[in-house]
Amino acid sequence: MNQITGKTRICGIIGDPVEHSMSPVMHNAAFEALGLDYVYLPFRVRGEELKGAINGIRALNIVGLNVTIPHKMAVMPFLDKLDPLAERMGVVNTIASENGELTGYNTDAPGFLQALRAQGIEPDGKSIVMIGAGGAAKGISFILAGAGASLVILNRTLSRAEELASQIAQYYHRKIAAMTLNEANLKRAFEEADVLVNTTSVGMVPDVDRTPVPGKLLNSHLAVSDIVYNPLETRLLREAKAAGARTIDGLDMLVWQGALAFEKWTGQKAPFEIMKQAALKALRNEK
Ligand code: NAP
Repeated sequence: MNQITGKTRICGIIGDPVEHSMSPVMHNAAFEALGLDYVYLPFRVRGEELKGAINGIRALNIVGLNVTIPHKMAVMPFLDKLDPLAERMGVVNTIASENGELTGYNTDAPGFLQALRAQGIEPDGKSIVMIGAGGAAKGISFILAGAGASLVILNRTLSRAEELASQIAQYYHRKIAAMTLNEANLKRAFEEADVLVNTTSVGMVPDVDRTPVPGKLLNSHLAVSDIVYNPLETRLLREAKAAGARTIDGLDMLVWQGALAFEKWTGQKAPFEIMKQAALKALRNEK
């Protein structure tokens, strides 16, 4: 790592917990590669300390922070400005400070879109089946609808899928359907689908033998994206590959959200491959 001096600029991540975050290794590798005098630190912040932590950005002249669970929504009232996309989604994962004025952004959802486009998948005019209706699903569904896709949202708890569908419909005039996650509904949804996105935690360590979609329903016409990145190849992606489908793993979304935050803080193009290699190394070390 670069030597820390009196001029070193500080970025970091707030969350609770933050111990497993891969953002410090990704960002510090990027700063080092570009010879930038910046450092990225993890800060465990409890809910009751959130307001103080945000005021601390101004007090300590911190350049920017990532925000992770459980603060992505709670942080919003403490900021000076919200980027229109973050405001619409109601989720902030990146804060940038300009002379103490704090702006909240969402780079998770644009990171997901960037990961899709990097694989040559353009959502405009596509029919996308999204599994899940939790925090990550919200940003992803908004960005996909905004990019011109129609959506079928399947969730274990139907009411959450319905609520998300109606939130999207307030902003985007697209075909949006909500269904309970089960085999019959998946089969129906796949009749017209171009892309399948899993936004649930099903298949994540330690439950690596689970999948949100029975493998027999997958086919070679689908592109299949799983935002779970641990393991890198989930059972869903393994079975999608076996069915001849194109696959996109969750690591690219993670690295792209970091790259977009990096660019806001430094004004420089992020070294995506270096950040990805650092994240991969950290993932392997976790095992
Ligand atoms: P969340 O808000 O807690 O939502 C969890 C979702 O998973 C809900 O839709 C929930 O359904 C569903 N779910 C959980 N257990 C299930 C089960 N056994 N069967 C069926 N559905 C189940 O979580 P989140 O923040 O959205 O995160 C979801 C996953 O995305 C996590 O694995 C996280 O690591 C990953 N993620 C990855 C990235 C990335 O950069 N790659 C970014 C963000 C999140 P109900 O509504 O019925 O409970």
